[in-house]
Amino acid sequence: MLNIILFGPPGSGKGTQATILKAEYGLEHISTGDLLREERAKETPLGLEAQKFMEQGLLVPDSVVIGMIDNKLTERAALVNGFIFDGFPRTVAQAQALDALLIKRGTAIAGVLALQVSDEELLKRLLNRGLTSGRADDRDAEVISKRITVYNDSTIPVLDYYGLSGKSLCVNGEGSIDEISNSLMSAIKSINTTAQI
Ligand code: AMP
Repeated sequence: MLNIILFGPPGSGKGTQATILKAEYGLEHISTGDLLREERAKETPLGLEAQKFMEQGLLVPDSVVIGMIDNKLTERAALVNGFIFDGFPRTVAQAQALDALLIKRGTAIAGVLALQVSDEELLKRLLNRGLTSGRADDRDAEVISKRITVYNDSTIPVLDYYGLSGKSLCVNGEGSIDEISNSLMSAIKSINTTAQI
């Protein structure tokens, strides 16, 4: 299996690029943000609970998102070439849980591709996306700035966690969509295939 984490701050283009990579490599795209928004739209107890955190730009508790990922892996692992994780893991506890869930299924993370985008560019992109995405958390500059702070405080350490095993690679996340997907594909080529089980 080829299991990749697409890593980066809110607005770095993870969703757009995951859609391209998913088609290129036949991977299943798992976005915890999308899964949570689906739950919220269906007004499930999980979705309504998650909403309280999402509208403030805070992280939904680890146990909730880890449970969702466990369910998805159970449903899909036997049917796909691998997974592309987008917006997950966002804490070191989530990364440790993901590793354990993959080991249990005889596989592992092959690489973490980290999109690099300046804070100034992120704010611009998110406010712009808020005009059309219908996402309340993309319309409020205060919530956006909270999400970027949470990313810097709780999520950046995930990169160090994977960096320890030499699995993370930085990719320039500024430029055209094609330029960025080409850089990501080169990075995937250079991922040590021995990391794949
Ligand atoms: P995203 O679509 O990835 O920007 O996620 C939107 C919101 O969903 C985030 O601001 C969080 O409130 C929540 N969320 C998404 N993924 C996670 C995660 N892995 N851990 C905790 N909260 C998450």
